[in-house]
Amino acid sequence: MDDSYQVIVVGGGFAGKTAAEELGRKGVRVLLLDANNYQQFQPLLYQVAASQIGVSTVTRPLRSEFRGINSVRVLTAEVTNIDAANRTVTTADGSSYRAQALVIATGAVPNFFNTPGADEHAYPLYSVADATRLSAAITAVLDEADREPGVDADVIVVGGGPTGVETAGALAENVKYLVPKYFSPELAARCHVHLVDMVPNVLAAFSAKSQAYARDRLTKLGVQAAHGYCGW
Ligand SMILES: Cc1cc2nc3c(=O)[nH]c(=O)nc-3n(C[C@H](O)[C@H](O)[C@H](O)COP(=O)(O)OP(=O)(O)OC[C@H]3O[C@@H](n4cnc5c(N)ncnc54)[C@H](O)[C@@H]3O)c2cc1C
Repeated sequence: MDDSYQVIVVGGGFAGKTAAEELGRKGVRVLLLDANNYQQFQPLLYQVAASQIGVSTVTRPLRSEFRGINSVRVLTAEVTNIDAANRTVTTADGSSYRAQALVIATGAVPNFFNTPGADEHAYPLYSVADATRLSAAITAVLDEADREPGVDADVIVVGGGPTGVETAGALAENVKYLVPKYFSPELAARCHVHLVDMVPNVLAAFSAKSQAYARDRLTKLGVQAAHGYCGW
């Protein structure tokens, strides 16, 4: 049991990294644990998924973020158990760490809302690993359609919130501008991007003006409302 730290922070996302940074600058001895050795920038994951930018654009080595803050130690380890009463965490390799305070900043996981088959068949977009997996899957669909003249390349984006709108828009941009150039106009005509939501508007949480703008841009890019759920 290593109990040489005053604070243990689990998770090096925006929240955990900032907490460790602020504490570290005040000289508090902090252990920052993250399953990955990098911080990921989720807002641009959709562009990784659409193969428009590389992974290095959305990741930053966690250790480099703490250069010069000597009281923070960054350790790459997945936390598998937290004993809040004893302020102890255990990592996948069986190591245990105890401190006077624990900060749990492990972020969020996708919610499939009990939709049958969704967790098994859909591609969530919450992490760099998700984005690269999705990018590879979409590329495989495109390559298959390129090999097989009778096959269409359809992608269905579920969820008309910001990430769904951005993802559908980026994929539709690829179909409009890149597929005709690097594959063929004929293949581009067989590529379809659908956007599905259970409410009749995209960006439901945003202003009517933003909703209308997004709807107009997506329509011009050729994004289709699947099964009419998106209602435009
Ligand atoms: C696709 C997408 C797009 C987004 N776009 C925007 C946007 O445009 N604007 C905006 O304001 N917000 C956006 N958000 C939301 C924003 O990214 C999150 O609110 C923010 O990242 C939350 O920060 P966090 O530190 O709480 O969690 P996260 O950033 O998720 O960090 C959690 C960290 O904990 C680590 N971790 C998790 N479990 C363990 C474990 N068991 N052991 C060790 N480490 C663990 C993870 O590896 C990760 O590094 C977006 C989110 C997503 C998914």
